[in-house]
Amino acid sequence: MPQSVCPVCESVLDFEPWHDGVSSQEICPFCGIHFGYNDARPDLREAVYTEWRSEWDSAGRRPITGSEWKRVSTSVAQRALSKLRPH
Ligand SMILES: [Zn+2]
Repeated sequence: MPQSVCPVCESVLDFEPWHDGVSSQEICPFCGIHFGYNDARPDLREAVYTEWRSEWDSAGRRPITGSEWKRVSTSVAQRALSKLRPH
């Protein structure tokens, strides 16, 4: 099994989130980010990881799942997008 580290929560994963530009479509079991979905846009990826990490921190460092995931997913995408816009 390839091992790697989650770019959001730094937990050790037993899969690679991305390999040669192809996403794993896996969900991090520690923070709940969905690789290939939440971080699909390369230009937003770093911002998404940063925003997801702050959500995960404020959620008490447990996986974000279910209806909470839907809320966080939308909110993280909006905040990542807003960082691209000139201030
Ligand atoms: Zn993670």
